[in-house]
Amino acid sequence: MTERSLAAWSTLGVGGEARALSVMDREDAVIQALRAPGEVIVLGGGSNVLIADEGVDAHVIVLRTRGLRWGQGGSVRAAAGERWDALVEGAAARGLAGVECLAGIPGSVGAAPVQNIGAYGQEVAEVLRRVRVFDRDSGEARWWDREELAPSYRHTALKGDPRRVVLEVELGLTAGPPAPLRHGELRDRVGVERPTHAQVRAAVLGARGARGMLPDSGVRSAGSFFTNPVVPADRAAALKDRFGGLPCWPEGEGRVKLAAGWLIERAGFPRGTTRGLAGLSPLHALALVNLGGARAADLLALAREVQRGVLRSMGVWLRPEPVLLGFAEDPLAAPPAG
Ligand SMILES: Cc1cc2nc3c(=O)[nH]c(=O)nc-3n(C[C@H](O)[C@H](O)[C@H](O)COP(=O)(O)OP(=O)(O)OC[C@H]3O[C@@H](n4cnc5c(N)ncnc54)[C@H](O)[C@@H]3O)c2cc1C
Repeated sequence: MTERSLAAWSTLGVGGEARALSVMDREDAVIQALRAPGEVIVLGGGSNVLIADEGVDAHVIVLRTRGLRWGQGGSVRAAAGERWDALVEGAAARGLAGVECLAGIPGSVGAAPVQNIGAYGQEVAEVLRRVRVFDRDSGEARWWDREELAPSYRHTALKGDPRRVVLEVELGLTAGPPAPLRHGELRDRVGVERPTHAQVRAAVLGARGARGMLPDSGVRSAGSFFTNPVVPADRAAALKDRFGGLPCWPEGEGRVKLAAGWLIERAGFPRGTTRGLAGLSPLHALALVNLGGARAADLLALAREVQRGVLRSMGVWLRPEPVLLGFAEDPLAAPPAG
């Protein structure tokens, strides 16, 4: 690997070289680089990207800007390059609720609103007040409110748009104990009616650790590789009739979210499935893993095999959750209908 090798900056450990690579801890330097002509891609922790073996023809900026400012009434402003879990840990230490179930998610604060991170019944959009975004088209930064971000399940207006870069995030947390837990497994792990922040944090980290979903779990992944498909309610009901036990959750507006991990296992890809150097995590069927020395092409081949297998047996197309960088065409796009 060279110092421009992007594999070193991605938790999946794959990817070729960038045209240029800079690690930046000053916002003015970041803005200067964003005002320069040419492709620029910003990375935080590289925990939600799959980078092509051919690399990317862009200046890649790894954001390391720092600053966590705790205000009155539960407000917190954080620089985009801060570690997300440092914010979550700080909130718990101050007795602030709203992000406790998002403990242990790898990556940066700036990327959190990009895909509206979520886990164990919480999403960052619930506490997002506003986000300061640099727009490469206008050459200026301004605050976007929650509505402008248009958050939905694992998506906001910023996802897949390299011309808009988050510089700072402001959250509105609530002073007091954690809100009642929405996730059954977490409630069972906590085991008490009114848990403290420390108890919720320990339970979330324990649950994530058991699935290999912590940054230091020794598994090279991008977390969940596919999003849970959201389908019309009648379609979900038909699937449930055919495949008893399919877990699903109402997603509003007559739509239902299906458990992608369950679909994958039922389609014949159990946890621990391997194809050469790529595999599914032995702890979590939804996580594609680099077993050591895999290339992006190996992971993509397995991802496509899983997509086609689930389509063949259940009629559902799984969409990737990570952002694919350096591909002229989307290698995981759905096949044309019909
Ligand atoms: C073990 C593991 C567990 C995970 N668990 C979860 C989970 O429970 N829930 C969940 O939602 N996600 C999860 N993820 C995915 C990932 O951690 C999150 O999506 C995280 O927010 C990505 O942050 P990052 O800084 O690593 O982003 P990167 O991977 O560096 O970037 C992701 C995308 O965002 C863009 N981006 C990065 N920073 C900025 C910025 N400042 N402004 C604009 N665009 C930017 C990048 O260009 C890229 O397109 C997990 C990943 C791993 C490896």
